[in-house]
Amino acid sequence: MKHFDYIITGAGGAGLSLIHHLSQSPLRDKKILVIDKDTKDSNDRTWCFWEEEEGPFEEIVYRSWNQLSFHSQSYSTDFEIAPYRYKMIRGIDFYRYVQEKTVELSNIQWLQAEVQDIATVGEKIEVKAAGETFAADWCFNSILFQPINKVETNYLDQHFKGWVIKTKEASFTPERATLMDFRIAQEGETRFLYVLPIDAHHALIEVAIFSNNILASEAYDQILDLYIQQFITTEAYEVTHEEFGVIPMTDYPFTKSENRVIHIGTAGGDTKASTGYTFWRMQKHLLQLVDQLANTGLPLVQPSTWQKRFQLYDSTLLRVLEEERMAGDELFTYLFRKNPPQRLLRFLNDESHFAEELALMSSVPTAPFLRSFISELLKKRLPVQTNLPTWGYDPSTAA
Ligand SMILES: Cc1cc2nc3c(=O)[nH]c(=O)nc-3n(C[C@H](O)[C@H](O)[C@H](O)COP(=O)(O)OP(=O)(O)OC[C@H]3O[C@@H](n4cnc5c(N)ncnc54)[C@H](O)[C@@H]3O)c2cc1C
Repeated sequence: MKHFDYIITGAGGAGLSLIHHLSQSPLRDKKILVIDKDTKDSNDRTWCFWEEEEGPFEEIVYRSWNQLSFHSQSYSTDFEIAPYRYKMIRGIDFYRYVQEKTVELSNIQWLQAEVQDIATVGEKIEVKAAGETFAADWCFNSILFQPINKVETNYLDQHFKGWVIKTKEASFTPERATLMDFRIAQEGETRFLYVLPIDAHHALIEVAIFSNNILASEAYDQILDLYIQQFITTEAYEVTHEEFGVIPMTDYPFTKSENRVIHIGTAGGDTKASTGYTFWRMQKHLLQLVDQLANTGLPLVQPSTWQKRFQLYDSTLLRVLEEERMAGDELFTYLFRKNPPQRLLRFLNDESHFAEELALMSSVPTAPFLRSFISELLKKRLPVQTNLPTWGYDPSTAA
């Protein structure tokens, strides 16, 4: 049986980020096997996030903005976000960047195959794929093998469709992106558009919906077309690229580790429950993981009890939205109207101080939040479930 120091199962956002961070660390010579069923050669997603400094993938940031806009029916504002920048990385650029930087490294072996099983055997882990079994000291897994329990947790899908459009006349302000535009029919859900200009004639425009009703593809198209006609241009435009995605917004207690298997990315709980943002959080997690592994030999990163307060805020926010105790457009209007944007961005990155959190809390009507906050505080947490394959579960059907 072939033996590796680490096996990385799933080479998407988290798996490739981990490979990149390992290759920049004292662990760069470790023998690693990377397994993914896909070739990762299409532009299947666009990552946006904000950070203060240059990040680990600065070279491939496709566009970035220091000015953003927010719109709702009752409030509109343009604002500067310094010291933050809002950044966009295209999936295809990210996949190619990591693959090209690491393909020549003889200590990293790549296997395109479906992972069938991951099991801890004594002090080792064994991974089954392509009819073979591979052993390693640690497995870093980003595959979601078990369906998320949507019933006993707060859960909303964030489903979205986006178009890159090309307009004839100059229609966009390239230095300013629209973070959220709620000026569309809400249909009892939280629905907004965002507009990420590439230049004066091109932009990625996406409609995002927080709800548990995924729409037919044409329904997103209709919303996008109506928005473009109403707010961007009445002239003909061309759609040059499309993307669709569903991100689970949930406080499901993702298992962080199972013996020598460490879960990362969405499967490891790196997706922020109240917003769906994952990319920046996963970099933070993986950089910490690599640092700790290099220094102590142990990769499991444990947030402090104080840091866990953000999970409580997320659960509260999610519950307010899921139970429609307050409409999403109303909630974000309060937050943007009454707070400096940097405070809100810090909070949404789990970087705020307690005083800022109190200020944010006092900027929204107390009643719906207090009820949700207290219920979340008193809630009996679910026992942690495994994320590894179990008998009878077909991973290919996993969401
Ligand atoms: C379209 C889209 C846009 C997004 N935009 C943003 C954004 O703007 N900002 C943000 O912060 N987050 C965003 N997200 C959320 C999140 O950042 C991404 O989902 C991110 O890719 C998560 O990384 P991951 O490694 O957990 O999952 P993935 O990137 O999906 O990687 C999982 C990998 O596992 C592989 N795999 C699955 N099952 C098996 C199996 N049985 N055997 C072998 N391989 C398997 C898959 O092929 C895949 O490569 C977006 C998500 C989507 C879908």
